Amino acid sequence: MAAKPNLESDPALRLFFALWPDEPARVALSRLAKEVAHHGQGRAPHEANLHLTLAFIGSVPRVRVDSLLEAGERVAGAASPFPLTLDRIGGRAYGLAWLAPSSLPEPLHALHASLTEALVAARFALQQRMFRPHVTLARDCSRPAHRGRVQPIGWQVERLSLVVSTLAAGGSEYRNVATWPFRNA
Ligand code: NAP
Repeated sequence: MAAKPNLESDPALRLFFALWPDEPARVALSRLAKEVAHHGQGRAPHEANLHLTLAFIGSVPRVRVDSLLEAGERVAGAASPFPLTLDRIGGRAYGLAWLAPSSLPEPLHALHASLTEALVAARFALQQRMFRPHVTLARDCSRPAHRGRVQPIGWQVERLSLVVSTLAAGGSEYRNVATWPFRNA
């Protein structure tokens, strides 16, 4: 099993900014993920790992982590809570299935835009991919997912987290480096 990341000594960390579901949403997502993975003959993430990535940073030298912490704190401190609803299953030919919003909610778009701006200002090189918010429900599926609308699953988004990701024998492990509540949360 991989050693736990050590913020003080590891030369680089694999980091991303995430929105974590609340407990009822996590339970509902986990139930759906198991159904989707079963249907696709793939594997569902551990319930505790279910999340929505706001920005994937990738490998960051330890000396640069403080800049990410400053950016996250500033962006969260300027954001207001908003409801998020995910209601559409999508998938890719190579075995991924996810749950996404049917349309990009404006507050989520604004949060992503302000985080991107803060990260660019702090000189982090972000991939110029279109933002497609989703919660991954299954990986390594050998059959395509049923796509389309499902019973919505949502939560009130009121905090932002910086998460470190490591690869362990049992799969990816995530740990919050920091979590910041939104203004008025
Ligand atoms: P991860 O690769 O560290 O990804 C963490 C989060 O960032 C996920 O939400 C992922 O989205 C997203 N993400 C990853 N790369 C991205 C990119 N280039 N652009 C935008 N978003 C990105 O951990 P993971 O998602 O648990 O692992 C995914 C696969 O990578 C697994 O098959 C794992 O075995 C392999 N992997 C993991 C690690 C690790 O340290 N965790 C290291 C090497 C390889 P999605 O949910 O859409 O993937």
